[in-house]
Amino acid sequence: MNDSNHSQGIAESADADTINRLVYDQKNYYRSGATRSIAFRREQLSRLYEAVRRFEAGLMAALKQDLNKPEKESYALEIGLALNEIRFARRHVRRWSKPRRVKTPLTHLGASSRIVPEPLGTSLVIGPWNYPVNLMIMPMVAAIAAGNTVVMKPSEMAPATSAVLTRLIGETFRPEYIASVEGGAEVSERLLKQPFDHIFYTGSSVVGRIVMEAAAKQLIPVTLELGGKSPCIVHKDANLELAAKRIVYGKMSNAGQTCVAPDYLLVHAEVKQQLLERMAATVESFYGSDPIANPDYVRIVNDKNYRRIVGYLGEGRIAFGGQTDDVARKIAPTFLEGVTLQSKVMQEEIFGPVLPVLTYERTEEIYATVQANAKPLALYVFSGNPRFQDEIVGRIPFGGGCVNDTIVHPGNPNLPFGGIGTSGIGSYHGEHGFKAFSHYKGILKQSHRFDLPFRYPDSKRGLALI
Ligand code: NAD
Repeated sequence: MNDSNHSQGIAESADADTINRLVYDQKNYYRSGATRSIAFRREQLSRLYEAVRRFEAGLMAALKQDLNKPEKESYALEIGLALNEIRFARRHVRRWSKPRRVKTPLTHLGASSRIVPEPLGTSLVIGPWNYPVNLMIMPMVAAIAAGNTVVMKPSEMAPATSAVLTRLIGETFRPEYIASVEGGAEVSERLLKQPFDHIFYTGSSVVGRIVMEAAAKQLIPVTLELGGKSPCIVHKDANLELAAKRIVYGKMSNAGQTCVAPDYLLVHAEVKQQLLERMAATVESFYGSDPIANPDYVRIVNDKNYRRIVGYLGEGRIAFGGQTDDVARKIAPTFLEGVTLQSKVMQEEIFGPVLPVLTYERTEEIYATVQANAKPLALYVFSGNPRFQDEIVGRIPFGGGCVNDTIVHPGNPNLPFGGIGTSGIGSYHGEHGFKAFSHYKGILKQSHRFDLPFRYPDSKRGLALI
């Protein structure tokens, strides 16, 4: 694949004709059967792995430029995760791809049945800016493992990363197999008119609706990885020292611009003060006494989001933090008390380093607060009592989450990662990603040895065979 004809990626100017041609070529390439063998898929995963390693420094620099991400965070939550996912898929793709035998009822005497995974075909992957490497590479790994071709569209709001990713893809794959198309909403809209076999979208629920509407016109299946308000519940029997560290880590990494970040805190009234004191100390130990001045503290992606998040600060009492810097677009880690469920900060996904703190005394109050909003992408519960943990996990609908930790569940490739309701449709990571990009054919193989007469019109007795 790696010859001198490689494209350097499809530039922002991608007009309708260029996109038509690209998708046409990918469909032909897919139909040629080239992407199907397991050897091919494993080779492409190795190629991707090597490319990510080769571009590691460039990706780190781009993430610093786009979001001021520090290298440690860029590696742990972007590049390292993507490399792990590639390795995991490469190791397991043969097993995932094997047809699986299932039982056959006696009424089909002599027959055998199996489920045969089939690639969906030519797929479109659209990504957001907040983890612009991880959230492009991870779906691509799933698509490659399942034997698809891919057109990807990174976010225009992380332009440096989008450019490096496009070079990485252009230098590694032929465009008829995998191509990166850069651009904003208008390019997305052009792509969404194409006859893809699957659309994998990560981003806001608002745009998720647009994507699903466009897909519905052609009955294209979708995976939607969206957002929402993810609660973090801290019970009175929790280990507060650990809870404080893990909540601050999950909320303040990437300055809160994480889809699975704890959106708000629901803490038992008896331990609120102790928890907030420990969290304040944790912020200081992680980011120093003036986080805004910390060169490694992430900035807010653009002015619009910055102003939106700063607007939340007036909706409650600032218990900690609250400093802002309009020029650097930085907002210090902030705890906000006294907010109402009707305020914007409790109705919209915050996506920034502002943490509303609500209290409860009875468990019923937790359900009422969480269920005042749509089903969240994540939920976190801190408690030393397994019965309380199980009750919360069992009673509240949410995408996925952690007990006694935050944001680390997407790092386990054995767990499905996805939302529910307005926080998403479908899931991925590991085999779940392979499934998202596969169709499962149900095949019943009949034998010549028996031919039960009951089903035919000339038999006296009928039998439910189909
Ligand atoms: P966004 O929806 O604004 O943009 C995502 C992608 O959609 C971009 O590539 C953009 O170019 C494209 N787009 C924008 N407008 C479009 C339109 N009208 N038609 C077609 N495409 C369009 O999202 P964002 O601001 O980049 O990301 C933030 C949101 O994403 C948050 O809600 C967050 O929770 C969510 N998110 C979810 C996950 C997850 O895995 N579930 C991960 C990261 C972010």
